[in-house]
Amino acid sequence: MKSETLDLLIIGAGPAGLSAADVAAREALDYLVIEKGTIANTIRQYPVGRTLFSTPNELEMQEGTLRPVREKPTREELLSHYIHFVLDRNLRISSGEEVIDIQHSEPEIFLVQTKGTDTLGQQITETYRTRRILFAIGAMDHPRRLNIPGEDLLKVHHRFVEPYPYIRKEALVVGGGNSAAEAALFLSEEGARTTMAIWREDWENRDPKAGAMKHWVRTPLEREIAEGRLRVILYKQIDEITAREVTLTTETGEKRTILNDVVFVLVGSDADLTLLKELGVKTTAGKYAEVPVYDPETFETNVAGIYVAGHFTNARHIKAAIDVPRKIVPLIAQSLVAPVGR
Ligand SMILES: Cc1cc2nc3c(=O)[nH]c(=O)nc-3n(C[C@H](O)[C@H](O)[C@H](O)COP(=O)(O)OP(=O)(O)OC[C@H]3O[C@@H](n4cnc5c(N)ncnc54)[C@H](O)[C@@H]3O)c2cc1C
Repeated sequence: MKSETLDLLIIGAGPAGLSAADVAAREALDYLVIEKGTIANTIRQYPVGRTLFSTPNELEMQEGTLRPVREKPTREELLSHYIHFVLDRNLRISSGEEVIDIQHSEPEIFLVQTKGTDTLGQQITETYRTRRILFAIGAMDHPRRLNIPGEDLLKVHHRFVEPYPYIRKEALVVGGGNSAAEAALFLSEEGARTTMAIWREDWENRDPKAGAMKHWVRTPLEREIAEGRLRVILYKQIDEITAREVTLTTETGEKRTILNDVVFVLVGSDADLTLLKELGVKTTAGKYAEVPVYDPETFETNVAGIYVAGHFTNARHIKAAIDVPRKIVPLIAQSLVAPVGR
């Protein structure tokens, strides 16, 4: 157990956690970020070479510091921006360490238990004492599944990294959002024989506010279709995945079996709310998924001293993930002067 007591422990080093760390440093808080993966782990998991949807002012940690070669940055440019932000400001981040348990044994103190591995692969555990906790855990922990036979085959992926291993392979992409559309486009453009299985309502959705495919994805996607490289199937359900085939039911109820070498199931992902629930944080049905209940001004949950920020709180873009901690970390600093549990 670490002997000192932190003012603020931040869980997650995505845009929300990094923004929180920066403000915590400026507020002279004794803080630490615990990150189970790497700095900006979610962005690191974007497809290789991907261009962001957002402009630099919506992504940068400090105005004017993200200068991409083109109008919008690539995954690599954004990652480098976040990493240099951490290095330049010497932010306190422990990566490769996962928060696995939190105990609230004393009124003003949380005990946070973590696990990681050393260079020999041996598991190490640590316990931190902290007065406040900010959950900035994102919503990537549980990729959504189809829950059908064959989904655990090695050829089935719930994340898309790059198209290059699949050239001249029969690829199926399942999903109706931008991630699925982008993956289908990348695969098709790089010579995978690609089929996209999408629900009609997603295919026909043109409303950007309702998550419609971005037009700069749709336009080249439609070109791939028109030129006969990409096939779209409007489907009702995927029935089964086998070593060489996929069986699905089309929207008109017809059963189809298609040849297949690789499947990408890109139907969204959910946060892991287990730690929050174990602490007694209430949750509710949000617009897209279950979300914690929190005060919209302070982002404090019903458990005094526990705060939430970023993607899993409904703020589903990087800009909101960066902006919210700028507002709430000063409030957390103030609350450390006045006692919790008002
Ligand atoms: C393919 C894809 C493309 C996207 N494109 C865009 C885009 O163009 N523009 C845009 O604005 N948004 C985009 N988004 C959304 C954007 O990535 C998120 O809104 C953003 O990452 C949210 O930041 P965050 O800090 O809330 O969460 P995240 O970036 O997800 O960070 C959360 C961090 O918490 C860590 N963590 C979770 N649990 C624990 C634990 N128990 N212990 C320790 N660490 C933990 C995770 O490893 C992760 O690093 C995209 C998302 C995806 C998947």
